[in-house]
Amino acid sequence: PYEVLIIGGGPAGAAAAVYAARKGIRTGIVAERFGGQTMDTLGIENFISVLETEGPKFAAALEAHVRHYGVDIITLQRVAKLEAAAQPGGYASVVLDNGAVLKARSVILATGARWRNINVPGEQEYKTKGVAYCPHCDGPLFKGKDVAVIGGGNSGVEAAIDLAGVVKSVTLLEFADQLRADAVLVDKLKSMPNVTIHTNAQTLEVTGDGQKMNGLRYKDRVGGAEHKLDLAGVFVQIGLVPNTEFLKGTLELSKFGEIIIDAKCHTSLAGVFAAGDVTTVPYKQIIIAAGEGSKAALSAFDYLIRTPAP
Ligand code: FAD
Repeated sequence: PYEVLIIGGGPAGAAAAVYAARKGIRTGIVAERFGGQTMDTLGIENFISVLETEGPKFAAALEAHVRHYGVDIITLQRVAKLEAAAQPGGYASVVLDNGAVLKARSVILATGARWRNINVPGEQEYKTKGVAYCPHCDGPLFKGKDVAVIGGGNSGVEAAIDLAGVVKSVTLLEFADQLRADAVLVDKLKSMPNVTIHTNAQTLEVTGDGQKMNGLRYKDRVGGAEHKLDLAGVFVQIGLVPNTEFLKGTLELSKFGEIIIDAKCHTSLAGVFAAGDVTTVPYKQIIIAAGEGSKAALSAFDYLIRTPAP
């Protein structure tokens, strides 16, 4: 059995593991894929103190740091269920897909999130070759170029405003007949000279030359006409889905499915903490996830020293 068992091996889980292990308590980490979303990232240029690195290189560094402290690492395993301890201070059960059960006095949930895809031809092929999901991360790569944003909710409109200050032009495509973002954001967007907005626009395909994307095709859902845009990049902004399917009914989730936490990463279950993209903490970024993971581990340690075994 573990004192702390961390579920998820992205930046949040790795930071939690390092902080927990450094307290000298028995720490385990179970992850489907160590590194999490950073394994899908080409360049990382905003992890402070690291000018520039690549996703898989960053993920390998996370794993090396965790291994250095002798943490028990279980990868390629998916958690199917969490069962809370029967009494405070008791053991929670973490059930894996393969049926194995891991016991721990405290659990840190760090299962991250995934960007919702548009599911059109070319999207997968040109991922990281023009198709992007994070304006804070990849916006500067498109400086002086033409890009599109797909999605006219708050995140899409915020992304378009953000990008308009960096790139040459932004075309925003919204499937519905109007933008769904807050009026103040829509007004701001409309005031920007290098932004074009198309509503009723259904994206059909991301086009490219086999190496990188060069544009997209969309259909006007009212007139039926098809259009082609020449673009260096497209930001897909139709939602970030937290990986909490296995937790439904176990603890409190927001209406978006995020784990609700307080400032100390407590969830609604005693002895269960959460950190990173899977939680209600705003701004889904590596450095934020890592900071939250550290905080969750310190809170778990605090819980362990204050809660005697039953
Ligand atoms: P994740 O990285 O999502 O890790 C989740 C972990 O949980 C993984 O190990 C996963 O395998 C595991 N897991 C999930 N479900 C289960 C389960 N049921 N059982 C077991 N394990 C499970 N941020 C930046 O700061 N800078 C960037 O440049 C940047 N670029 C990005 C580019 C792309 C393409 C993407 C997708 C994201 C980018 N981000 C960037 C965002 C950043 O990657 C995330 O904010 C960060 O990885 C979140 O860390 P996390 O640990 O909370 O979750």
